[in-house]
Amino acid sequence: MTTPEPPTRSLRLSLDANVLARNWRHLDRMSGTARAGAAVKADAYGLGVEFAVPVLREAGVRDWFVAHWSEVEDVLAHVPAGEISVLHGPLTAQDAAFARAIGVRPVINSLMQARIWLDAGGGACDLMIDTGINRLGLPLSDVGDPLIARLEIDVLMSHLASADEDSPLNETQLRRFRSVCGAVDPRRRSLANSAGIALGADYAFDLSRPGLSLYGGIPRRELRGSIGPVAQLRAAVIQIRDIAAGETIGYNATFTAKEAMRVGVASLGYADGLLRAWGGKGAAFRSNGSMLPILGRVSMDMVVVDLSMAPGIREGDWIDFDYDLEAGSELTGLSQYELLTVLGRRFSRG
Ligand SMILES: *Cc1c(COP(=O)(O)O)cnc(C)c1O
Repeated sequence: MTTPEPPTRSLRLSLDANVLARNWRHLDRMSGTARAGAAVKADAYGLGVEFAVPVLREAGVRDWFVAHWSEVEDVLAHVPAGEISVLHGPLTAQDAAFARAIGVRPVINSLMQARIWLDAGGGACDLMIDTGINRLGLPLSDVGDPLIARLEIDVLMSHLASADEDSPLNETQLRRFRSVCGAVDPRRRSLANSAGIALGADYAFDLSRPGLSLYGGIPRRELRGSIGPVAQLRAAVIQIRDIAAGETIGYNATFTAKEAMRVGVASLGYADGLLRAWGGKGAAFRSNGSMLPILGRVSMDMVVVDLSMAPGIREGDWIDFDYDLEAGSELTGLSQYELLTVLGRRFSRG
């Protein structure tokens, strides 16, 4: 007996390829003389490498950034190995051997990583300098080490800590990065992430590395109006019920109906990324222009919405949740990055 096709999923991540491509083109133009690459780590910020990479490749991306070695395979299915950089760099000889065998570039972040890479035979790599985020990267004091002089550096990079703010740290990091560019002789230089691109031409160098704003995130006001939303959530209404005045809804009975009301149960919960932080704050689904506010707590697989404004909705109908990252971040206290990367695996996508 053959297994039947699985039924259509009752929750959907609507992804807009045109907006994704347009966002990249905008960031590429804003990068001035620099070319824009694409950070596609964490499964393209939760939207899916399988969706994002082919679209971005057609748009013109030739530089891809993942964090983990485990993320290489999925990206490699769509682009040449030589276009992929692995930000975490080699922690073991096995990592270095893998990079050499496949032809992807490790980002060297420390003298230890430089030694691992050179001991494995070396070759083209990138070098991350820490200019002030104090996270991952070669300390400025190690730049003059003889091991670094032996590296064959394609992209010399650094990462901004506060590009989404008007912080004096931005200029400090820019100044430190410039000083390193004089001491190391890379093929290309790269400093700006999405927010860094909006800081202006000084921050562009040869290559920018946007992630968040490709996928619709707006970390700075300069990007408002030009960066569009890529993802929207949709869910089926799997039950409709009539609630009497005084009844409560959901776990811990946090919502009490003031009057009789009609509510719908949507097939989307915190396991899918609609975290409980969205509950009790007036956030609403939408149906043909009507607002359907979330009532009570978000459950793991479900959320209850008020259907007062949409009396025509029937069981089996679909409702939309506009995934506005900037407003959603404000409302929930989650970062725009978290709102994207938290999206779960049960959606149909496309
Ligand atoms: C994630 C990441 C980026 C992309 O940053 P966004 O803020 O998402 O644009 C760029 N560079 C490095 C080193 C990163 O880790």
